[in-house]
Amino acid sequence: MHKPLLLNRRELLKLGTGLGVSSLIPLSAVSANTLQTQAHIVILGGGAAGMAMANRLATRLEGGTITLVEPRETHHYQPGWTLVASGVWQPDKTMRPNAQFVPRGVKWVREYAASIDADNKRISLANGATLNYDYLVVATGIQLNYHLIEGMSPTLVGQHGIGSVYASLDGAIRTNQAIQTWLDHGQGKGIFTAAPTPVKCAGAPMKMTFTTLSRLEASGRRDAFDVEYMAPGTSLFSQPWVNEFVKQRFDEQGVTRRHHYRLSAIDPQAKQAEFTFIGPESEFTSHHQLREAEFRRENQPTVIADYDFIHVVPPMSAHDFIKQSALIAQDGPFRGEWLDVDIYTMQHNRYPDVFGIGDVIGAPINKTAASVKAQAPVVEANLLAVMQGNPLPARHTGYTSCPMITGIGKAMLVEFGYEDNFAFMPSFSFIDPTDESWVTWVMKDRMLQPAYYAVLAGQA
Ligand SMILES: Cc1cc2nc3c(=O)[nH]c(=O)nc-3n(C[C@H](O)[C@H](O)[C@H](O)COP(=O)(O)OP(=O)(O)OC[C@H]3O[C@@H](n4cnc5c(N)ncnc54)[C@H](O)[C@@H]3O)c2cc1C
Repeated sequence: MHKPLLLNRRELLKLGTGLGVSSLIPLSAVSANTLQTQAHIVILGGGAAGMAMANRLATRLEGGTITLVEPRETHHYQPGWTLVASGVWQPDKTMRPNAQFVPRGVKWVREYAASIDADNKRISLANGATLNYDYLVVATGIQLNYHLIEGMSPTLVGQHGIGSVYASLDGAIRTNQAIQTWLDHGQGKGIFTAAPTPVKCAGAPMKMTFTTLSRLEASGRRDAFDVEYMAPGTSLFSQPWVNEFVKQRFDEQGVTRRHHYRLSAIDPQAKQAEFTFIGPESEFTSHHQLREAEFRRENQPTVIADYDFIHVVPPMSAHDFIKQSALIAQDGPFRGEWLDVDIYTMQHNRYPDVFGIGDVIGAPINKTAASVKAQAPVVEANLLAVMQGNPLPARHTGYTSCPMITGIGKAMLVEFGYEDNFAFMPSFSFIDPTDESWVTWVMKDRMLQPAYYAVLAGQA
């Protein structure tokens, strides 16, 4: 069924050196003109998106002020956490000092933003200071809402058979240990969950299932372990072909799939999880409006499941201080939960001097670093156009990409965008998005990280 690999190992690695960085660097970033300005631009958040914008704007603007608000000293390469939680990568491979990426001339404020007054163009910081801006780029990423699962806290990850790749780097390390403890036990039930909200790297919960299946098979005792996947909706992934592929592969690999269940509570001491049945009339899609009240709703049918290992995926949203600001979506599918931007221009729908980029935005797909790579030149071009009073020249296609790990040593490079029901947008002629291969695994393992750092440096 699978096509033979066209490249041998040596050819691939030779090619990969280039793929990792240089072929992903557009000339526009290098040759673009600069704009003279007196404006003050504030970038909130210095993760993948904020740091990419700081570097791009530092190159394009002369005379203005750019302030980057980022509290953390360390940058985390989150796409590596899946490999840490699977026991494939050493944790320190995923960390770098933020100081390496902050460009010269950019003022780095090491503090949390606490509130945004969009009408008066003012940010309050956690230390009580305020910042005024002429233009604002919101890039604060995602809030992990573990508290919406009763009894759950990220501090529990690694204890009582609980794993969660999203919690933090430490959480990924402890998830690996929790899986290993389950394996060493030699038998038992593992439950893999998904969230009833959009999540960053929508493939990660499935990647954790597939890599764990590889480890169970390698133990030689696969039949002694039960594996269940509990999904809140009918689909497992937004791209239709991949959705069907994963479902079929789970069935073939003996994973029991249950749909329309969300994890509502956990009892770590008893190793029991409560799931609330939320279908089929309230059928979930990634556009579904899910408010906090719905997580707490009484009188919905629930089931209690015993587990030996459970992978918890928390509900996610924009951070509370964004939700409490006028910048949050007021209606539509992202109401109350995500930043209100035009999903093509990245400009705020009601505050034209504000742009959003990265995980924080309300969009039907997009919560990946690969999306940040595609969004950054759009935000750069459109923000500069607004500063000059010009029409917005750039449009984001919705491009996103997920190296869907289908086992330790194999993956598929799934790239798609908004159009044609999330049709594939393959970047490389030698990689078929419907073909799982060692080639794509090597890309995930060795080449995507340098490409990611090039995005942060504003070079890709
Ligand atoms: C387990 C896992 C696997 C993933 N796998 C992939 C993958 O294979 N491919 C892929 O492309 N992407 C993957 N991703 C997703 C990718 O990491 C994110 O989409 C990307 O980091 C988004 O960038 P961002 O800048 O929007 O958010 P982040 O990189 O999370 O950065 C947000 C920044 O905002 C800062 N911040 C937060 N609150 C405040 C505040 N109040 N004030 C100021 N700053 C604040 C934070 O400190 C942080 O630095 C994965 C993510 C995870 C967790």
